[in-house]
Amino acid sequence: MSYFADLILPLPLDNRFTYSLTEEEFRFIQPGMRLAVQFGKNRIYTGIVAEVHQIPPEVYEAKPIHQILDEKPLLTQNQLKFWAWLSAYYLCTEGEVMRAALPGAFLLESESIVKLSKDVEIASEVLNDDEYLVIEALQRQSSMKIQEIEQLLDRKKVLPVINKLVSKGLVDLNQEIYEQFKPKEIRYVRLNPAYEAEAEMHKLLDELSRAPKQREILLSYFASTAKSKKSLKVKNLLKESGASSAVLKSLIDKNIFEEFYQETDRVKFSGEIISHEINFNNAQQQAFKEIRQNFEEDRVCLLLGVTSSGKTEIYIKLIEEAINKGKQALYLLPEIALTTQLIKRLQNYFGDRVLVYHSKYSLNERVEIYRKVLDKSEKGKIVIGARSCIFLPFQDLGVIVVDEEHESTFKQFDPAPRYHARDAAVVLANMFKANIVLGSATPSIESYFNAEHNKYALVQLNRRYGDVLMPEVEVVDIKTAHRKKRMTGHFSDRLIEEIRESLKEGEQVILFQNRRGFSPIMECNTCGHSPQCPNCDVSLTYHSHNNQLRCHYCGYHIAMQHQCMACSSNEVTTKGFGTEQVETELKALFPKHSIGRMDQDTTRGKYAYEKIIASFENEETDILIGTQMLTKGLDFRKVSLVGIMNADNLLNFPDFRAHERSFQLMLQVAGRAGRTKKRGKVLIQTYNPHHQIIQQVSTGNYAEMFKEQLEDRYQYQYPPYFRLIRLTLKCRDYSKTNEAAEWLARALENVFDRYVLGPEFPPVARIRNEYYKNILIKIPKKQSLGKTKKMVHRILKTFNSIGAYRSVRVVVNVDPQ
Ligand code: ADP
Ligand code: ZN
Ligand code: ZN
Repeated sequence: MSYFADLILPLPLDNRFTYSLTEEEFRFIQPGMRLAVQFGKNRIYTGIVAEVHQIPPEVYEAKPIHQILDEKPLLTQNQLKFWAWLSAYYLCTEGEVMRAALPGAFLLESESIVKLSKDVEIASEVLNDDEYLVIEALQRQSSMKIQEIEQLLDRKKVLPVINKLVSKGLVDLNQEIYEQFKPKEIRYVRLNPAYEAEAEMHKLLDELSRAPKQREILLSYFASTAKSKKSLKVKNLLKESGASSAVLKSLIDKNIFEEFYQETDRVKFSGEIISHEINFNNAQQQAFKEIRQNFEEDRVCLLLGVTSSGKTEIYIKLIEEAINKGKQALYLLPEIALTTQLIKRLQNYFGDRVLVYHSKYSLNERVEIYRKVLDKSEKGKIVIGARSCIFLPFQDLGVIVVDEEHESTFKQFDPAPRYHARDAAVVLANMFKANIVLGSATPSIESYFNAEHNKYALVQLNRRYGDVLMPEVEVVDIKTAHRKKRMTGHFSDRLIEEIRESLKEGEQVILFQNRRGFSPIMECNTCGHSPQCPNCDVSLTYHSHNNQLRCHYCGYHIAMQHQCMACSSNEVTTKGFGTEQVETELKALFPKHSIGRMDQDTTRGKYAYEKIIASFENEETDILIGTQMLTKGLDFRKVSLVGIMNADNLLNFPDFRAHERSFQLMLQVAGRAGRTKKRGKVLIQTYNPHHQIIQQVSTGNYAEMFKEQLEDRYQYQYPPYFRLIRLTLKCRDYSKTNEAAEWLARALENVFDRYVLGPEFPPVARIRNEYYKNILIKIPKKQSLGKTKKMVHRILKTFNSIGAYRSVRVVVNVDPQ
């Protein structure tokens, strides 16, 4: 009898790979377990068992496995099913899905680099001899390759040892360089619990009667903690009691006070549940009831609720219902860094049952969360996070919330799998028979289309919570303003007036400047030349803070030039404007006010967003300038004015979704205004005040926008009427790129005829010295999606077998955004 296992390997292989098993292994191994196997000459990889069976492979001799790495499956059956779906739908390999889906620490391989984990105490008594040797070696050198560990232990099979060390949290694998966040720590004191009883407390005060200063602090502590608080910030205690830290120290030394530190600005649960009852208003009650009814019929719900209508409270209730039934819940967000506020809200309600999953977290943190979800532990009943959360090993998913479902960041761009987390979540929900709600104030055309065609249920909230009015929108025609000399830099008189008014009332202002395609570039007034990136086909962008010209695609940079590089003329100017320029102008206009800026440059650090947001929340900043980052779910109480600096660069973007996106973006930023009692105001500066999208934003008319866009989509054959697959060829050789693209386009045309567009160069045709060329396949509704993909797959296989095109890579993007 022979036994086999089919493995998914973390490589771009088309097929699973079969290995042979002994009978004993066959009895033990289950799908979802990890095995270490040899692949290629000398390399060891971690594979996932997809199936065990008794059918030998036809074209090769199955090799034995190297090691079993798990005692029980690391993946659930549903995950394996989900991976298979993802790879078939998004035309990528299961190996690519595996790489995206599993934390790197699970992917032990011969190329892995092993390092000691940061900040862990190592108790040598928990280590066996081998583990001890490895740890000791790692304390002397910062990292080791698997091979070196093999030499150290003088044997071939070392992966289980390392696997053990990983699971004990002592070592990290393949750790990319993560920015080490040093959370700000705040010092607290609390009374030693031994003195909590009234009698003890009085005894203590008596004892301290000869140390009046210490007694003073203690009394001050009691006064401040009288109302239920159990600890106090040292800073506050010293301030209120007027005592010195030396006096406090003697109390700590006497064990009367215990000191401890707590992180502040990290997204971490503080331990305190500020529970508040949710009392729905009538509209929420009605919406909630409708969602539940639709859930009973297993329907996907689209919740269209205007900004600040109370959607989040509805999500919270839906999640609560699911976990009360013992199920797990998943809350998907477009970008986690921007959602500190929301995470706090959920943690305030659910406490430590909420886990936050973030691809930027360290590997150990991710492994920990993965395990908790797999074990269905009480902590981690609710997972909140960005798109990669869909890969967690849920056992019993009850509900999925996709918040801001229209956001394009739900789509993974690079590398494969290029999945859309919203769409994948719908499939995931279906596998679990779980409920799913997609929510937005400005749904994607696709989702609303599905609702109109009864594929999804539509539930609406048309008013803001507390009947706060939607903000008033005013459109400022800057063409006229320019002509009438009513502009100061990029600010119209109207905008300046409104800003002044708001600041006078002690309110805050948000200014929005889109970053896309409108950054300042340097241009020669004599010959028109502007400096280009040598590696990419784009102009360099001017950054005033370090006086550099930079490429946004590859990072290339040079010092700002004051002479034209082509004709040596001194007549050079900068054209276009970005957030930085808005900031400079604003500082000149309002020198007495503090101004913050939130864009890619100011938010590089992992927690930079949080800091900017916190400072605005605490009203340390009066005016916040920002890019699209500002649009996402932020809830600032004192913002009464939102200014959109220039609507036109959004509208003119060459993309079939440009209008839809502009509408969503503008309405979302507008939604930041006037979220409390006072009606907010939104000012849109534009050269095209009569543009239909500007009009639709002014009136908040989603239905009209939808109807109009839909007509365009129909006429020009775009989603939701047609599905798209985009193939992008990349190659360093220009003519080879062209040749290969021609070949591929012709081969596709043979099958799909007029539904193949291109090949054509994208707007930026060369990036990092690689040429790009696109081919677009349009798939009409009546054409089978599955068959189409199989055919594309077959043609690509033929293409890849052509020797002359070996240097050309093809990137496949299904449902490109
Ligand atoms: P949305 O998610 O639709 O933008 P939110 O859920 O953030 O809206 O609600 C807007 C504001 O109204 C928030 O400050 C929220 O706390 C408050 N709110 C919404 N519903 C309720 C409720 N039932 N009880 C108390 N406050 C509510
Ligand atoms: Zn010139
Ligand atoms: Zn470049």
